[in-house]
Amino acid sequence: MARILILGAGFGGLELATELSEQLGEGHEVTVIDKGEGFVFGYSKLDLMFRGRSVEEVRLPYADFVKPGVTLLRETVTAIDAEAKRVTTDAGVHEADYLVIALGADFDLEATPGMTEVGTEFYSVAGAEKLARIIPTFAAGRALIGVCGAPFKCPPAPSECALLLDDELRRRGVRDACEIAFVIPFGSPVPPSPETSAALRAEFEQRGIELITGRRIASLDPGRGVAVLDDDSEQPYDLFLGVPKHRAPEVVIASGITEDGYVPVDPATLATRVPGVYAVGDVATAGVPKAGVFAEGAARIVAQHLLAALAGGAEPARHLGQGTCYIEFGEGRIGSVDIDFLSGPERTGVFNPPSPEQMALKEKFGSDRRARWFDR
Ligand SMILES: Cc1cc2nc3c(=O)[nH]c(=O)nc-3n(C[C@H](O)[C@H](O)[C@H](O)COP(=O)(O)OP(=O)(O)OC[C@H]3O[C@@H](n4cnc5c(N)ncnc54)[C@H](O)[C@@H]3O)c2cc1C
Repeated sequence: MARILILGAGFGGLELATELSEQLGEGHEVTVIDKGEGFVFGYSKLDLMFRGRSVEEVRLPYADFVKPGVTLLRETVTAIDAEAKRVTTDAGVHEADYLVIALGADFDLEATPGMTEVGTEFYSVAGAEKLARIIPTFAAGRALIGVCGAPFKCPPAPSECALLLDDELRRRGVRDACEIAFVIPFGSPVPPSPETSAALRAEFEQRGIELITGRRIASLDPGRGVAVLDDDSEQPYDLFLGVPKHRAPEVVIASGITEDGYVPVDPATLATRVPGVYAVGDVATAGVPKAGVFAEGAARIVAQHLLAALAGGAEPARHLGQGTCYIEFGEGRIGSVDIDFLSGPERTGVFNPPSPEQMALKEKFGSDRRARWFDR
């Protein structure tokens, strides 16, 4: 009986554990460790901020993740010894034959001077909840949506935030008293897809949202209400909606297996440099964007490797870095981009314009995963 230890029950960990349960049943010992109470889809943060949803409504409790052969423990990982495949948590020590790190990306607020003091980011659940209370009070002035560093999760999300904020201000009849500006370090809103970027740019132009590309927020000066960009230019704000700089969780960095803030892996297999240790999702540098759909795809490849090792399963496929990201265009419209990063010589991103069909597909994206992972 092999012991497989999965750290993190997000997109990557949940999919891997589900796949192993389906394929291995109770034949092996699969343990998943997560410190949270439940899983929250990344995009639910926009529902908290702009649709009056509560955390209780959007959180899928881990108590409902029940899979044969899988134990989910609610513990905080405090140390990882990758070579020994030994993990320490606030509740004890776990040893494994195979270790999969799926702890996601964390936020490094300190990396952007002034960010902690300003305290309005929308990438954590707590941050989105806080902004959900602030946004309804914003009725005049300049809102600045600002990205503090790349890579960051779900590259279209700050564009979505700008468009949904525009909707919200129009709904309240205060849009004319407000400005919206958006700073992104990329040359375009969604670099792998010129068509998607063009559609978003057209939307920003039509709505009078100012787009500043190729720049990141370097620091914030709340005293003056100014964001300083990485070229020393300044952008004033009355309301700052930030995407903090990301990096792997501290416990992963302390384990010594990261480079430039993340765990390097073989993009085809998700193997780390330590035999029997894999990393999937946002915690890894795998040549794909940081998004749930890629974490999931990577998890399925790791499942194939584990099945091949434990049950003589078929030759594992290569990780192709393919997935669809849905994008809110405001006014209830949803489009998407089909990303393919690793299958061919070129990275591609095919745009699917907003349509009722795309909206139904996004709904299905959420409901399929709720059903598969949480039986809801
Ligand atoms: C606003 C927004 C919108 C988004 N929209 C989309 C979208 O439409 N589509 C899409 O595909 N992606 C989207 N994303 C991105 C997506 O949420 C992430 O890329 C995805 O969650 C990454 O999956 P993961 O498994 O790598 O990590 P996560 O899902 O972040 O899971 C990591 C888990 O590890 C746990 N953990 C961390 N540290 C510890 C520790 N020390 N001990 C125990 N547990 C720990 C955490 O509690 C967490 O549950 C969005 C993100 C944001 C912020």
